[in-house]
Amino acid sequence: MPSSEMLVVIGAGQAGAELAVQAREGGWAGTIALIGDEPHLPYHRPPLSKSGLTQAHDADSLAIKARATYAKAGIELITGRKVAHVDLARTAVHFHDGPSMRYTHLAFTTGGRARRLPAQDELHSDVENVHTLRTLADAERLRAGLVPGQRLVVIGGGFIGLEMAAAAATHGLNVVLLEAAPRLLSRVTGATVADFITQVHRDAGVDVRTGITVDGLETDASDRRVTTVCCTNGERFDADHVLIGVGLEPDTTLARRAGLPVDDGIVVDACCRTIVPGVVAAGDCTRQHSALYGRSLRLESVPNAVEQARAAAASVNGLDRPNTGVPWFWSDQYDIKLKTAGLSQGHDRLVVRGRPASRAFTVFYLQGDRVLAADAVNRPADFMLAKRLISERLAVDPARLADDAQPLKTLLPSP
Ligand code: FAD
Repeated sequence: MPSSEMLVVIGAGQAGAELAVQAREGGWAGTIALIGDEPHLPYHRPPLSKSGLTQAHDADSLAIKARATYAKAGIELITGRKVAHVDLARTAVHFHDGPSMRYTHLAFTTGGRARRLPAQDELHSDVENVHTLRTLADAERLRAGLVPGQRLVVIGGGFIGLEMAAAAATHGLNVVLLEAAPRLLSRVTGATVADFITQVHRDAGVDVRTGITVDGLETDASDRRVTTVCCTNGERFDADHVLIGVGLEPDTTLARRAGLPVDDGIVVDACCRTIVPGVVAAGDCTRQHSALYGRSLRLESVPNAVEQARAAAASVNGLDRPNTGVPWFWSDQYDIKLKTAGLSQGHDRLVVRGRPASRAFTVFYLQGDRVLAADAVNRPADFMLAKRLISERLAVDPARLADDAQPLKTLLPSP
């Protein structure tokens, strides 16, 4: 590879950091620039909604890789600068604050933004006590604001809302959680796990309400503080703080304006290439076809960002290394460690291994005799088994899978 080549990576998060380092390790001999608009080294976001409320985190303690790693790999890390425009025809990226940079290869790893509620648009831009949680700065603002004894209203019963509800309740706040769908985690898990998680939160004192839609945020006379969360059914919830966790919007603006195909995510092939030669994308901002599930997916998880980054780095080096990983995710709430493998849409039966009452069980989602997905609650070995059953498309005997007395290894075909 001639050393005059220049790889520019836009977005210094989970995928960007991995992509830059993997490209170098995979043999990229040219220059690498990793550009991020946050002021920090690329950092791990998962702790922000878990220990982030009770424990001060600095960017260095959360760093995905030490500063020295980038220096050693010859990666120029440009932080605190936003790319405003990409010109694919002239192979140039333009910064918000001035000069541009040429590239021979380009990667979009721009992640996503917290989705907004329409009610937020009516608020003063300086409102103090309405939060979303995507960045370290968001987490610091929340940590500084939330005081035990205060009332926190969480809007949204997905993973971030639930993890924050757990952290806040444990921290001594009075928490109400409002979810518009009939049950929690409706996009990502089945009723057995959702009902279990609901009960865990209620036992911890969180007032979980489902099937309730927020349609307004009332402020005090200063317009700087929200005092009440108003719902379409007429219910009103007083709040000292409001956390809005209603999902993520992929940050595809740059790619879309540059002319790349975007469909709720930058469209990439199995090797994370876009339709433009030399231009790749990875992480939360992408949409990719899954050979395993036969449809296109946009995933929001660390494992996906890492797998796609590795595929994209290989592509930059001229190699085919398709992303064939099983989608997976984890969530920590109180003493519950939930690990989910695969995607359950299309399942025609459920198998439960273990008992929810014991706070350690796994729900397997099957289509015929194949496992499509599994949610393992405090059962890491089941999770590992599920990943293997899913990725190797192995047939299982549902009755034996349900029988907790059957050792896990006997569920796999003999070598
Ligand atoms: P990001 O890590 O978001 O990085 C994108 C970066 O690009 C950002 O820093 C952004 O500011 C920057 N950027 C965007 N546009 C520009 C521009 N124009 N110029 C310069 N820079 C730009 N996943 C799990 O698997 N398990 C968990 O338990 C889990 N917990 C989470 C908890 C929280 C609070 C959050 C927010 C996420 C969590 N996730 C979890 C999701 C996981 O963190 C993301 O899937 C992952 O960070 C995606 O990586 P990414 O590189 O695609 O995006």
